Amino acid sequence: MVFSPNIEHFFVTALQQRCSVVTNPLNGATVIIDGGGEPERIIDWIESQSGSGPDFEINAYNGEKRVIALLNTHAHFDHSGHIPDLKEKYQVPWYLHADDAFLQSKAQLSARRWGFEVPEPAIADVEWKHGEEHEFEGLKFEIIHTPGHTLGGCCLLLHVDDGPDHLFAGDTLFQGSVGRTDLPDSGGDMDLLIRMIKERLWILNDDTIVHPGHGPLTTISHEKTTNPFVNGHQTGRGAWM
Ligand SMILES: [Zn+2]
Ligand SMILES: [Zn+2]
Repeated sequence: MVFSPNIEHFFVTALQQRCSVVTNPLNGATVIIDGGGEPERIIDWIESQSGSGPDFEINAYNGEKRVIALLNTHAHFDHSGHIPDLKEKYQVPWYLHADDAFLQSKAQLSARRWGFEVPEPAIADVEWKHGEEHEFEGLKFEIIHTPGHTLGGCCLLLHVDDGPDHLFAGDTLFQGSVGRTDLPDSGGDMDLLIRMIKERLWILNDDTIVHPGHGPLTTISHEKTTNPFVNGHQTGRGAWM
């Protein structure tokens, strides 16, 4: 049973990637989604509520947090580049789809292309599989594999009992846009990406809150009716990375 999870958003690195810290208020169990940058900022906040803290949060929670897992939507370095630092601190398993393992192995190379330095990449401890449900002490996530931005890109659907579900969409779906499909080593494919969004995301509840990897929150119903890429009005490379 999950009631009103606490969700804190940190926009990290110059690429303003959304790192989400999700806590079950009943027991303090916490997962970090897409720990791609500024690990000290995330750790300082979780451990002692010090430092600059989150950019915003949903459902206030002031109790202790116990980090029990690191979850990733995909392996672009802005989303996963600092997983090694978080793994070292928390010694908990890291979850990623196997089809992004090659991309992850190239993290340092791709970071350097954009002028960033990241540690030697981590290797996932657990592989996401489409359709599976993973429960983290009451935080129930369904894994929706949505390749197209990257081969192993997944959306993580957090089921909530007393309100709308939350979809951590990585760079699959943005408010008014979709992920780029032209990035190196990623296996991008725009036709596949659009098909995955239509087949696997449009079937979710209309009021599902979408937390994209960059930019503002949106909902499934808003994107279903207005997203110009998926509705065929706009073509091109998509946004962000
Ligand atoms: Zn990104
Ligand atoms: Zn990406």
